[in-house]
Amino acid sequence: MNAEPAEPFREEVRAFIAARAPRLRHQEGVRVPQSPDEQREIRRWLRELYEAGYLGAGWPAEWGGTPDHHPLHDLVLMEELFRARAYRPLDQVMLASHAILAFGTDRQKADLLHHIRRGEHIWCQLFSEPDAGSDLASLRTRAEPKGTDFVVTGQKAWSTDAQWADMGMLLARTDPSVDRHAGLTAFAVPMHLPGIEIRPIREMTGSSEFCEVFLDEVRLGPEHVLGDLGGGWAVVTSGLASERAFVGANAVQLEMMFGDLVSLCRAARIPDGTIAIAHEDIQAQLAAALSKVEGVKLIVRDTVERILQNEEHPSDGPLAKLAYTELNVELCELALEIIASSISVDAAEAEVVTRWYENFLWSRALTISGGASEILRGLVGRQLLGLPRDS
Ligand SMILES: Cc1cc2nc3c(=O)[nH]c(=O)nc-3n(C[C@H](O)[C@H](O)[C@H](O)COP(=O)(O)OP(=O)(O)OC[C@H]3O[C@@H](n4cnc5c(N)ncnc54)[C@H](O)[C@@H]3O)c2cc1C
Repeated sequence: MNAEPAEPFREEVRAFIAARAPRLRHQEGVRVPQSPDEQREIRRWLRELYEAGYLGAGWPAEWGGTPDHHPLHDLVLMEELFRARAYRPLDQVMLASHAILAFGTDRQKADLLHHIRRGEHIWCQLFSEPDAGSDLASLRTRAEPKGTDFVVTGQKAWSTDAQWADMGMLLARTDPSVDRHAGLTAFAVPMHLPGIEIRPIREMTGSSEFCEVFLDEVRLGPEHVLGDLGGGWAVVTSGLASERAFVGANAVQLEMMFGDLVSLCRAARIPDGTIAIAHEDIQAQLAAALSKVEGVKLIVRDTVERILQNEEHPSDGPLAKLAYTELNVELCELALEIIASSISVDAAEAEVVTRWYENFLWSRALTISGGASEILRGLVGRQLLGLPRDS
């Protein structure tokens, strides 16, 4: 399907978002509800997105998917959510459904999927630990077999949305005696179980996006095991590749940021009293920024095309993420430099300035979550360029 036949769908999605998206104040980097009312609204919104077939349409029909689903529709949805600055479901949150569909038993699918579709279950990921992030396989949280049950003890870190999540996808070590990847098992954990303590982490954005989660002898039955015993690595890595077409929405985000950069340069007055955009050096910086934005858009578009044609290269995702997140930081730094060197900014653009501050505070996080830039560079080097691994 090329872009044109998606246009009626895009119009429909746009109208749906305008009519039904929760009216929350958008702040980049603040994705957790700020009140019980907001939480209810977000759950309602997720339910409506599933009911309307905008989310979950790619699932097998018996679990609510639709036969006419096209992956391009996922991309269109995410682009329009970005464009409207509407609440968008997180990859972290949606990962659970993919893992359940791919690895869950029929019983687990029947028990868990419908709660996701109804906005009743928000999921979080309990993977990283204080000493295990990039090198996730070194994690130390233990799930010790006790009869048919498991007793889990350990600490997780940076768990996005854990403070309001109903369920967590946990990766824990069930067998310390085997290869470190083979000793890991995935679990579907109700977050209200005794022994689980959740402590939100306060961030410089002013909100608490993620949490520390302490597990103290949490008892899990065999029905909580997701996938095979010792097969946890496959469960979490397959899920991490889900919703891949969503990467394309980053191109929209960059376009919008460039628009904000131009607005800022039109509104900012420099010390000689003139507006920033009247100056050749600023114009040159804008031109350079635009060429980078266009370059990254091409990388992202290429990636999406290959994903849609099922011809994705393993380095596509890392390369697109690296290019987008690093340029995001660069644009934020340029905007902040312009703000810092201005004597005033037209009050009509106050919202744009606020957005730049918020983006700036958040931008670094994106270069860490879902694979830190250094790790992605290593992957691209090995997978795309065929460079040898460090010995
Ligand atoms: C916004 C956000 C949301 C997150 N949400 C979740 C979540 O929901 N659930 C969850 O489990 N985790 C989550 N994380 C954690 C995330 O997965 C980790 O932060 C990430 O994997 C990096 O691990 P780390 O923080 O331990 O840093 P480290 O792995 O300690 O890395 C520190 C620095 O060293 C570099 N480095 C590490 N190893 C190498 C190497 N071999 N070669 C070169 N450089 C290296 C890294 O690139 C980085 O710059 C989130 C993180 C962020 C920022």
